[in-house]
Amino acid sequence: MIKKIIRKLLPKSNKNLLNALDFGIQHKLLPKYALKSVQALQDAGFEAYIVGGAVRDLLAGLTPKDFDIATNATPDEVRKVFRRGRIVGRRFPIVILPFGAELLEITTFRSNVTAPQNEQGRIMRDTAFGTRKEDARRRDFTCNALYYDPVAEKIADDIHGIADIQARRLVMIGEPDERFHEDPVRMLRAARLSAKLGFSLSAEIENSIRKNSFLLKNEPPARLFDEITKELLCGNSSGCLKNIKSLNIPADIHPIFAIMITHDDDSTRQFVQTVLQRTDERVKHKKPVSIAFVLAALFWHKLQQIEQDLHTLDDKPTQTLHAAIRQIREDGGERWGVPNRLFTVMREIWQLQPQFAYIRGKRPFRLLKQPSFRAAYDFYILRSLNQDADPKIAEFWTKFQAANEEQRMMMTQPIVQRSTNKKRRRRKPKKDNQGTESES
Ligand code: ATP
Ligand code: MG
Repeated sequence: MIKKIIRKLLPKSNKNLLNALDFGIQHKLLPKYALKSVQALQDAGFEAYIVGGAVRDLLAGLTPKDFDIATNATPDEVRKVFRRGRIVGRRFPIVILPFGAELLEITTFRSNVTAPQNEQGRIMRDTAFGTRKEDARRRDFTCNALYYDPVAEKIADDIHGIADIQARRLVMIGEPDERFHEDPVRMLRAARLSAKLGFSLSAEIENSIRKNSFLLKNEPPARLFDEITKELLCGNSSGCLKNIKSLNIPADIHPIFAIMITHDDDSTRQFVQTVLQRTDERVKHKKPVSIAFVLAALFWHKLQQIEQDLHTLDDKPTQTLHAAIRQIREDGGERWGVPNRLFTVMREIWQLQPQFAYIRGKRPFRLLKQPSFRAAYDFYILRSLNQDADPKIAEFWTKFQAANEEQRMMMTQPIVQRSTNKKRRRRKPKKDNQGTESES
C-alpha cells in the first residue's frame, strides 16, 4: 500500500503521451485478459503498458496475434501480482502468464547500460532493469517501441514510431551494424516485419544485413527455428522468402532455409511457392495452420529424392521411406532445431501418404482414425493439385470423409463384390495396388 502511494507521488515520465483514440486505438480492441492484466499491475502501483507488435499492428490496421506487456515491476514483483506467472529465460528473464491457449508475456523495462557482450558484440545477458524511455531504446525498430496504456487510453511514442508506421517504413533504433551485432536475429526480424507490414527497408538496413548476415550462422538453431516459424505463419511468407533471397541471407544458417532458398529444379521451386502461397491464404482467412504440415510439405521433394537414391530392388517401399525420413533428420545435423513433437507429426504425414492409395476394404476406415489423418489428407490434396498424386483418389477421400457409415461401406466394397450383382466370377481377382485384398 505504502509502495503504491509512493509510486503515485513520484514524477511520471508520462508528459508526452498521445491520445490513443486519435489513432483509432481503444481498449475494446484488446482481449479482456490483456486489459485486466495491465490494470492489475497498475493497481499494484506499477507502470504497465501493452507494447511491441500488438500496438504496431493495431496502428497499421492489422489484427495483433499476441499481446505483450511491459512494466517497471521486476519479474519477482510481477509474480507477486500474478501467482500463476512463470519466470522464464536466462538471457532476458520475463514472466509468462497463460490464459487458456494464449500466453501473455510480461517484460520488465530494460536499462540501456551496456549489457555484457561476447567478442562479436552479441548481448549475452540483459538483466539490468530501467525506465520506460530506456526500454524503448533497447527495442529493435521504432514501430515496435510504442507503449499503449489502455486504462488511461494514452500512447507513449518516445522514438516517433507512429510517424514511421504512417510512412510505412521500418526504421532501426540506433546503428544497424551495432544492433545486428548485438542480436543477429534482428536481421531476420527486419526481413519478416517489412514483408508482413509492407514497410520499406532503408538502404542502410539492407546494406548492413548483406554485410552481417553471416553472423546468423552462430545463432542457436532453436531460436532460428522460432523465427522461421514466425516467417512461415506471418501471412506473407512468400514476401519473407523474397526478402531473404534479395538480402543474400545465407541458406546454410538453417536446414529449412536451405530447403526454401536452394532448389535444384523448377518443380521443387514451384512446390515451395505453392506451399507458401497456400499458407499465406489460410493465415489471411484466419484458418488454422499446422506448422508440421508446412514443414512436411517443404521437405517433401527432398524426401522423395532421398528415397530414390536409397531405393534398391530388395527393399520394401516402406523401409526406404523410413530410411529416407531418418536421413532427412540426420542431414539436418546440429542446426536442425525442429522440436521432436513437430518432427513426429511430419513423419506421420509422410508415412501416411502411401496409405491413401488403398481405398477398398477396411484400410480406409483405419486410415481415417489416425491422429494425423487430417493433416496427411490435406497434404495428399496439395500433392494432387501439383500432379504429384492421383486426383481421383483425392476425390475419393474428400467424399469418404463426408459420407455416412453406410455410404462408406459401399464406397469401400471390394470391386469383386460389387460386380457380383451383375455377373458372378469364378476366379479370385488378382490383388491390385488399390488394396482390393480383403482385410482382416
Ligand atoms: P510478432 O509478435 O508480430 O511476431 P513482435 O514485434 O511483437 O512481432 P515479439 O517477438 O513478440 O515480436 O517481440 C515483442 C517486442 O519485443 C517487439 O515488438 C520488440 O519491441 C521487442 N523485441 C523482440 N525481439 C527483439 C530483439 N531481438 N531485439 C530488440 N527488441 C526485440
Ligand atoms: Mg508479439
